[in-house]
Amino acid sequence: MEWAARAAVRRAPQPIDLMRDRRASMREDPAWMLQIAGMTNMSTVDWPGRLTATLFLQGCPWECTYCHNPAMQDSRVPGIVGWDDVTALLDRRIGRLDGVVFSGGEPTRQRGLADAMRQVSEKGFGIGLHTAGAFPGRLAMVLPLVDWVGIDIKATEAFYPQITGKGMSGRRAWESLRLVQEAGVAHEVRVTVDPTTHTRDEVLATVEQLRERGEEPILQEARAEGANPAYAAALADRRITAVLDEADFADLCVRR
Ligand code: SF4
Repeated sequence: MEWAARAAVRRAPQPIDLMRDRRASMREDPAWMLQIAGMTNMSTVDWPGRLTATLFLQGCPWECTYCHNPAMQDSRVPGIVGWDDVTALLDRRIGRLDGVVFSGGEPTRQRGLADAMRQVSEKGFGIGLHTAGAFPGRLAMVLPLVDWVGIDIKATEAFYPQITGKGMSGRRAWESLRLVQEAGVAHEVRVTVDPTTHTRDEVLATVEQLRERGEEPILQEARAEGANPAYAAALADRRITAVLDEADFADLCVRR
């Protein structure tokens, strides 16, 4: 999932009584428990055709080779943006933003997600979700609240551990895609092509399996920016063209 180098809204030191109020709110409202690593106040790229604010939720159980922000993976790292900061921003942006995208990390990891989405929706914003499908159970819970999903499918099921480093990740991701389809939610399927792991046959097999499910995936480049240094060195200047043949591109949807 994409983090990119976006400005995080950092909280200033808080007076003691305000901190006490926040702790009380966390007990009563699960949305306050969200670990929010950063927030983009205005984005045109996180939900196609929509102007959004985007929240980056800390923590992901996978360790993808090409992860753009490995610092977002550790679920023990506390958030640095408070839920009150988010709601205050949204109150100022009513009528000026189309929606809010919950991104990560893996946003479906967090228990407060559904309550947060509900509150954002009640303010009149659309709800977007970026997910890699690591938690199909929670995804199923929040899908009725979501207007659009960007879901990453990384490979065929058996190939997943070579990218995520985790067994069962492929089964979870493909099950999540099934849930998104069954929910009838507008969505986009993205496949990041990783020249350090993917072969041409693997990418084409992934596309074929997605088409069998009625999807036309968007292929994306893996990038060195933000990735761990070992991956950046291994990737070097290899691009998607190092994996696929020129003739393949006539039949594929690629976002560069
Ligand atoms: S699914 Fe992979 S790329 Fe996305 S946040 Fe987790 S480790 Fe990074």
